Amino acid sequence: MSLHHIFQEDAYGDQPVAENFWHRSFSKQALGEPLCDEQSCEVAVVGGGYTGLSAALKLAQQGVDVAVLDAQHIGWGASGRNGGFCCLGGTIADDADLIDRYGEADARRYFYAERAAIDLVAELLEQNSIDADVVSKGETVLAHKARRVDQLKDTAADVQKRYGISCTFHDKDELAELGMMASGLSSGLTIPIGFALHPYKYARGLAETVKAQGGRFYEQTSVLGITPAADGQYVLKARTGQLRAQKVLLATNGYSSENMPEWMAGKYLPVQSNILMSRVLSDEELKRQGWFSNQMAYDTRTLLHYFRLLPDNRMLFGMRGSVSATPHARKRMRTATRRDLERMFPEWVNVETPDFWSGLACLTHKLVPFAGAVPDTQGLYAAFGYHGNGIAMATYAGQLVAAEMLGAATKMPYPSFMKQAPIEFPFRTMRRHLLALSYTWFELKDRLL
Ligand SMILES: Cc1cc2nc3c(=O)[nH]c(=O)nc-3n(C[C@H](O)[C@H](O)[C@H](O)COP(=O)(O)OP(=O)(O)OC[C@H]3O[C@@H](n4cnc5c(N)ncnc54)[C@H](O)[C@@H]3O)c2cc1C
Repeated sequence: MSLHHIFQEDAYGDQPVAENFWHRSFSKQALGEPLCDEQSCEVAVVGGGYTGLSAALKLAQQGVDVAVLDAQHIGWGASGRNGGFCCLGGTIADDADLIDRYGEADARRYFYAERAAIDLVAELLEQNSIDADVVSKGETVLAHKARRVDQLKDTAADVQKRYGISCTFHDKDELAELGMMASGLSSGLTIPIGFALHPYKYARGLAETVKAQGGRFYEQTSVLGITPAADGQYVLKARTGQLRAQKVLLATNGYSSENMPEWMAGKYLPVQSNILMSRVLSDEELKRQGWFSNQMAYDTRTLLHYFRLLPDNRMLFGMRGSVSATPHARKRMRTATRRDLERMFPEWVNVETPDFWSGLACLTHKLVPFAGAVPDTQGLYAAFGYHGNGIAMATYAGQLVAAEMLGAATKMPYPSFMKQAPIEFPFRTMRRHLLALSYTWFELKDRLL
């Protein structure tokens, strides 16, 4: 038994995450032993990121005997590597497209869900006393070219239409006053929704809460197969043991496999995102560049740069790209990320950036997340596909799917399209390589338009 991944095996090992600042800056103490012998539980959750943890929390709170299994450790995947932007998102389809495809009512349900997802994270942090270094009042989008101002206007109009909330425009002088000066920026827009956090502290905080509610963890346990047994239960097989469960949730997102189970094949597309982190910057260095705000920000590129100053004055700078996960490709990506950081923040050309890491987010063909039952099965569920914006949406999807598993009515906005099983990508065996073509087009568009 082996897992069939669509990226090179290196992406699923420890190299891309070896310099992860988040892991280094917080306890990685084991939360559970590897699975051994024969065990059983009511619900098995495969994947210990936000999706799995938030589902496990809701289930454990209802007295369900739940076990979370992770191939590595809790928060090892994207949930322990991301930029910490807890903001609107989860889809990359635009509002008009969602309305067109799914109708006004269902699209509107999704817009409410995006907002409710952020509130849910805030509630979980507060209710469970999780200290995750929260900063930033909303998010700021920065026009990387004067002619991208129209994009800011469209975003402001969408937010107004969705929630009746006004965004704030900033001209160049105002950006300077706010401490958000970077090369090439012409103006900005603050959307007053969302906040930034330490992603791994959040994941660990959720896990500790699950444990306190009676949930179990099996770490260093790669689930290699899920088979239905004659008694209607599922048997999850790992190298060192097996777990019987009445219900199973697949919460593997960008780290999913084509054959675990076969149903996943072709339905998800992992995309790499990469983060470079500077050393602590001095007040003088911040002033010289004119960037001293803790506001989370990103630019108007399609292959956008996202960046924010941490509470201790390290600069986090991230960007998507590269369809290859070899050590050589990672080295090239590190160079490209450093080059773009220097272009945007020229006063920091001599500042060291000791930490660089990559991880896998996940797309679906229809560009919307899935959270629901796997068709034609009894008791098998999945949630994935947050399009690089999963802090809020993965947390939310986990709770939606947990409510489904409990058969409980939920007041949480739950658009019906999120329950529709994703369709396969065309040319599914080629999908990672085809992504390279999209990247080339996006780069060209960002440069020319
Ligand atoms: C570099 C980067 C930056 C990002 N920045 C942001 C951001 O700023 N804001 C935002 O909202 N989102 C961001 N995202 C996306 C966000 O991190 C993800 O959408 C979210 O963490 C997904 O959570 P998850 O629990 O579904 O998956 P993950 O956290 O990826 O967890 C999946 C887990 O499944 C486990 N697994 C896989 N297969 C098996 C198996 N067979 N057996 C056992 N375990 C298995 C893996 O080990 C992994 O731990 C970013 C992603 C990356 C990679």
